[in-house]
Amino acid sequence: MAAKPAVLITGASSGIGAVYADRFARRGHDLVLVARDKGRMEALAERLRRETGVAIDIIKADLTEPADLAAVEARLRDDARIGVLVNNAGAALGGGFLEQSPDVVAKLIALNTTAVARLASAVAPRFVAAGEGAIVNIASVVGLAPEYGSTIYGATKAFVTFLSQGLHLELGPKGVYVQAVLPAATRTEIWERSGRDVNKLTGVMEVDELVDAALVGFDRRETVTIPPLPDAAQWAAFEAARQAMLPNFAQEHAAARYRAA
Ligand code: NAP
Repeated sequence: MAAKPAVLITGASSGIGAVYADRFARRGHDLVLVARDKGRMEALAERLRRETGVAIDIIKADLTEPADLAAVEARLRDDARIGVLVNNAGAALGGGFLEQSPDVVAKLIALNTTAVARLASAVAPRFVAAGEGAIVNIASVVGLAPEYGSTIYGATKAFVTFLSQGLHLELGPKGVYVQAVLPAATRTEIWERSGRDVNKLTGVMEVDELVDAALVGFDRRETVTIPPLPDAAQWAAFEAARQAMLPNFAQEHAAARYRAA
């Protein structure tokens, strides 16, 4: 792998993905941009080539379409210059569970989970063989908060955080860095695309600040980065509480509260 590996970013046509593209280009990394809107990616690539001189390829792909997803998987499998995958493409849904049709739910799951897992699966063997590489997965604090009322979206993001933590444990010892980034509300098009007005929210982070903070976590090789969380000890306590249960799960008998009297 080259000293500065190329970075493949999904969902690079707008929002968080477009800012990742900008930042990695400024760090001198060549890019592969993936999304559906080729025109927007071409405009971004043209600007970044001019401003930074890096090489940028574009793959137009709808990651909910199996053939398009397979093409991105093939690129990740075969292109040894790519040393960083940013699994960022994603969407949200408006309304509650009862307003969301099974087809809409399945499509969101395909984009937010299946594509993320398949792309990681495509690239991981090559990274492990090289003994280096990084996978950045954009999850969300919504995956920690069923109380927010975005059940399907939150469930997909809980998947992404778990996937990242598991891959960190499996691939970390083989030289591959895996990071989950958990933004809270960030000013991007995701709100409008899912029928919501971001201007009605408080505590919204600007997208540049979100990505710059996520990259501080990346440079520190954090496994879980929650840019807006003021007190990192709260996440540490949450993880410690979860881990404290682990030695207690393997039992031959049900807990006393479930045994017939
Ligand atoms: P965004 O501006 O709407 O960007 C979403 C990106 O995903 C776009 O580039 C879009 O490009 C791409 N995309 C959407 N559907 C796609 C599909 N079927 N196939 C391929 N690409 C697709 O929103 P964003 O906030 O930057 O979202 C990026 C990630 O951050 C998502 O995973 C989101 O869940 C996560 N996140 C966002 C927030 C927030 O408040 N903004 C908070 C937590 C987590 P095309 O339309 O060109 O395909």
